[in-house]
Amino acid sequence: MRSWNFYAGPATLPLSALERARDEMIDWAGTGMSVMETSHRSKEYDAVHHEAMDLFRELLGLDDDHVVLFLQGGASLQFAMVPMNFIPKGGSADYVITGSWAEKAFKEANIVAKARIAGTSEGNGFTRVPAQHELDLDLAAAYVHITSNNTIKGTQYHEFPDPGAVPMVADMSSDLLWRPFDANRFALIYAGAQKNLGPSGVTAVIVKRSWVEKANSGLPTMLRYGIHLKEESLYNTPPTFSIYIVRNVLQWVKAEGGLAAMERRNRAKAELLYGVIEGSSGFYRCPVEPASRSVMNVVWRLPSEELEGKFLGEAKTNRMFGLKGHRSVGGCRASIYNAMGIDGLEALASFMKDFAQRNG
Ligand SMILES: *Cc1c(COP(=O)(O)O)cnc(C)c1O
Repeated sequence: MRSWNFYAGPATLPLSALERARDEMIDWAGTGMSVMETSHRSKEYDAVHHEAMDLFRELLGLDDDHVVLFLQGGASLQFAMVPMNFIPKGGSADYVITGSWAEKAFKEANIVAKARIAGTSEGNGFTRVPAQHELDLDLAAAYVHITSNNTIKGTQYHEFPDPGAVPMVADMSSDLLWRPFDANRFALIYAGAQKNLGPSGVTAVIVKRSWVEKANSGLPTMLRYGIHLKEESLYNTPPTFSIYIVRNVLQWVKAEGGLAAMERRNRAKAELLYGVIEGSSGFYRCPVEPASRSVMNVVWRLPSEELEGKFLGEAKTNRMFGLKGHRSVGGCRASIYNAMGIDGLEALASFMKDFAQRNG
């Protein structure tokens, strides 16, 4: 029996993606081996690798100038790789600070190059994302970096900033593929797979080929986007099993109706949960301003930490896991990525209403 899995990441995966892996674990594609045991240079693996890339292209509607890469080191390595490749000597990049992941990205950029803060919602306790008019953008910046969804704080951009002619880079680790959007507007998008795309171990990078051509030279080979682009993410051994599962997940997204279907599902799920919070006469309280509320990570508090502990304990006995807020902020959080069905939200909503009634 499957549990209700609200972990922020690694997170729940579509059942069909797991079942396919189970069925193919011992004998995959008629090879008599698992994908894990097969050469990354085999034609069988190559088909999976390129199918995963092609599915990304198709789901996102990428133009010919955008390519999909599968890298390692998580989103955290992208925090350093982006500035190493794209901030020229003597130049700087703009960062919009909307929470701890954005802060980490900014910090890494300042280790390897120079970055400045173009906007921050720290003064509001990161309970919203900054509006366009609050940004102080440097027209000469190498790029503007944003974090599309703030996994810990539960905020999300519903409309992306307009950086004008400056290339835009986004950390979309916790919301890539939640809805259709114009990915071609971005110079680079990166996402650790373990939230909304698959298992840990692989990072999806969508990058503009013409931008990579202008990247800094002199970097170690593994840290150059150019080499991964040229070798189609097969310069060294890629995380083959993780990419195989990502392929299975993308097949599921497509079969469900693509990103438009994901958006409908995700909005219905989030509305249900925010509705319970808002309808609880103040028992549950979401600190995030309504216009910035995340559709992927919903955060809320209870009247006391003691009640929060009781809530989390009872949730577990109801087979609901991963509802504890990030250790840096406390409270509760439900991560409701693409793979979480509406049935999980119905179960959570009914438990929350019942708990409020008994403890309110
Ligand atoms: C989880 C997360 C990260 C860190 O990802 P790793 O793959 O563990 O390095 C970075 N940014 C955001 C927005 C995240 O949610």
